[in-house]
Amino acid sequence: MTNCCNANGECTQGRDCPIRKQRAQEANEAYIKGFLMGQEDPLDDLADTFKALIALMFVVGGLTMIAFAIWGK
Ligand SMILES: [Zn+2]
Repeated sequence: MTNCCNANGECTQGRDCPIRKQRAQEANEAYIKGFLMGQEDPLDDLADTFKALIALMFVVGGLTMIAFAIWGK
């Protein structure tokens, strides 16, 4: 890659600077990735919480059924 930017970070190609474009794209992708990650995490937590709740209901329901089967006669 041609080094169009000098040591001070000043570019001779202005807005057409390939390094600047690449940095902008990387920053954009990192932002999108962070945005998606931020969106996914609470949904996963919610799904896990929901699954745990359903599992708990099955356990409680099963224990209730067993309790009725043993003592409910
Ligand atoms: Zn440059």
